[in-house]
Amino acid sequence: MPDPIEISVVIPVFNEELNLPRLFERLYPVLDGLGRRYEIIFTNDGSHDRSFELLRERHAARPDVTRVINFNANYGQHMAVVAAFERVRGRVIVTLDADLQNPPEEIPKLLALTDAGHDYVGGFRLNRKDSAFRTLASKCINVVRSRITSIEMTDQGCMLRAYSRPIVEAVVQSGAINTFIPALAYSFAGNPVEVGVKHEERHAGVSNYSVYRLIRLNFDLITGFSLAPLQFFTMFALFCSAGSLALVLYLAYRRIFMGAEAEGTFTLFGILFFLLSVAMVGIGLIGEYVGRTYQVVRSRQRYFIKEVLETRT
Ligand code: UDP
Ligand code: MG
Repeated sequence: MPDPIEISVVIPVFNEELNLPRLFERLYPVLDGLGRRYEIIFTNDGSHDRSFELLRERHAARPDVTRVINFNANYGQHMAVVAAFERVRGRVIVTLDADLQNPPEEIPKLLALTDAGHDYVGGFRLNRKDSAFRTLASKCINVVRSRITSIEMTDQGCMLRAYSRPIVEAVVQSGAINTFIPALAYSFAGNPVEVGVKHEERHAGVSNYSVYRLIRLNFDLITGFSLAPLQFFTMFALFCSAGSLALVLYLAYRRIFMGAEAEGTFTLFGILFFLLSVAMVGIGLIGEYVGRTYQVVRSRQRYFIKEVLETRT
């Protein structure tokens, strides 16, 4: 019997042909140098470029430690990670981006902390190398998240993290569809810790996240972990309707005791439009939660795997 696998490294890959060769060059020596049994699971998330061919070659070169999951289409970074989570064999699972923004050389730092008994090690990026807009936006969302959820996290966007196996199993079990993995895993952690890790510019290519995808992702984070937006909205709506009730009573009073009047019509329109917009935001917000409920209730297969390259050891 060979020793059990200690470390599983999980890497989602979407159109990373320019980064993969360099990633292989840097990652394998780091892991080989640990002197522990490990495996690397790459999920090809429907790349349109040569990423999968490169992964196939890599699997042929290092079949002992390389496994490749090939999706039929693009399901997003988090689904790619979940698919790998369902297949991990290691005792500790490390997630990493393929674009070398998280230096593989930092992995031993995380492992030192899991060895010390932490079941969740979250990385946060020291001197973050992203655009000013991204950095600012992520600071704002951090503030909102820490207010309305009980998740304590310095940097939710950092994917360089290590989890113990039971936490990864809990993430898989929870079967969520729109999953923000670092936050979901955090909610299962018993002894979490954070550590600063270096951050580099993307080695090549551009970020896969447009502003639209980022908004979707952060909506996932907020509505996936909290009903606060719904509750805030209800409170705000109550407040507004109390105000408008007072206004209606006042207008009725004036109508009865002072007679009809046409002045102030536009003020009234203003108020009306405002209330309408409040109602529309509310409908949208409710729709968001209903949509999520629908997705979970429908329980459709979350992704489809075309093939898995692995060698049973
Ligand atoms: N990724 C993925 N599927 C996607 C988008 C991204 O698997 O639909 C992978 C991508 O290959 C990379 C990681 O997720 O390994 C982070 O993506 P990216 O670098 O574009 O995000 P950013 O660093 O800008 O947040
Ligand atoms: Mg990146």
